[in-house]
Amino acid sequence: MKKLAINGGTPSRDTTKNPWPKWPVWGTEEEKGLLEVLHSGVWSYNGPKETEFNRLFAEYTGVKHAICTVNGTVTMQIALEALGVGLGDEVIVPGLTWQATAATVLDVNAIPILVDVSEDNWCIDPKEIEKAITPRTKAIIPVHLYGAFADMDAVMEIAKKHNLYVMEDCAHKHGGEWNGKKAGSIGDIGSFSYQLSKHLTAGEGGSLTTNNSKLAERLDALRNCGRRPEVGMLEGVDKGAGDYGDDDGNFIQSGNLRITEFQAAILIEGLKRLPAQNANRDDNGEYLNSLLEDIDGVAPIKRDKRETKKAYFNFAFKYRKDEFKGLPIEKFRSALEAELGIVVDASYEPLNNCSLYVPHTKPARHKLDDAYWKAIDPKRFSLPVCERVFKEESVCLHHKVLMGTKSDMELIASAIKKIFNYAEELIT
Ligand SMILES: *Cc1c(COP(=O)(O)O)cnc(C)c1O
Repeated sequence: MKKLAINGGTPSRDTTKNPWPKWPVWGTEEEKGLLEVLHSGVWSYNGPKETEFNRLFAEYTGVKHAICTVNGTVTMQIALEALGVGLGDEVIVPGLTWQATAATVLDVNAIPILVDVSEDNWCIDPKEIEKAITPRTKAIIPVHLYGAFADMDAVMEIAKKHNLYVMEDCAHKHGGEWNGKKAGSIGDIGSFSYQLSKHLTAGEGGSLTTNNSKLAERLDALRNCGRRPEVGMLEGVDKGAGDYGDDDGNFIQSGNLRITEFQAAILIEGLKRLPAQNANRDDNGEYLNSLLEDIDGVAPIKRDKRETKKAYFNFAFKYRKDEFKGLPIEKFRSALEAELGIVVDASYEPLNNCSLYVPHTKPARHKLDDAYWKAIDPKRFSLPVCERVFKEESVCLHHKVLMGTKSDMELIASAIKKIFNYAEELIT
């Protein structure tokens, strides 16, 4: 009789009797908010819920301005436009991230420069940023990946030295803190996503954060067909409500990237729940990391001392095949999935070989000239650490596994130990 769940043994967790915490989380507060919007008839367009959420999210993130849009992809596109990034510019992006981080650079006709990540935390490696800088470099996009934070001290120092913009991709980091400062308040602009898998969600949606009022005005116009902010829409920016063009008569071309009031109503309630959820995930994540320290063949991603508050999109850890009796990582992930009754993923595919990042499939859009066509070829970048993380090292679990109790963490640890003890069942 085999022991591992993948071979028909008893799973470590019986998820029919003992399900994982559910995601998304909602209650009567969300129902009330949604009905309020429904009955008001104000379903979109700079409504009271959107205005309130912008104010609350700015306050929570510790910035002057927060602006909602339709998702966490167009946020980055209009952030780059607001910063004046375009044709002829290079933008430095980590090779291990969701494809949108690089694809939006293409969408403003600039060149994504893919650089490798750090062995320690899988976020952009500051040494690789330095090596990639040229006279054409205009901006850096650090991504705070999974449970970790990009080294923002190093990123900001490099940016200052070379006079570059920094746009933080905070799609995994709502509420995470670096040296007491929230993600999205350190660079020039922060970009957030509220897509369903993220730990603050309205199904879809996104926000931009900035302390720069000029940038905020531009971002607001870019998400609203080029209009000026409504009175009261942006903190401290309230001249010339809804009209087009700035004080100097400059117009800006754009389209409709507005969020709805239904989404904003859900986000207002979700934001109230977020601090306690993040704190619980932080506690459980720390505990699980301490347990992983003592298990052969796996290792935690170490917490940087400068991370004063953790925020988790996924809980990720490192796998070591050689120490795990030579069991291939794919088999380990499938075995863990069967033990826990939850999806166990690899990291993102490195962008130099990613099935969803293929700029050469769009010649009509991206073939501006032969030089540009060559410059945007993802295959020209070498990303050995990203490739190793994806192929050999990464094990990722949805953040909801951290939303329960300490005993859930013990269960995950014991499931990993069980696979170790019976690895021979899978090695043929
Ligand atoms: C989810 C995500 C995005 C895109 O956000 P959407 O709202 O899905 O468009 C961008 N960057 C990273 C790192 C993400 O995880």
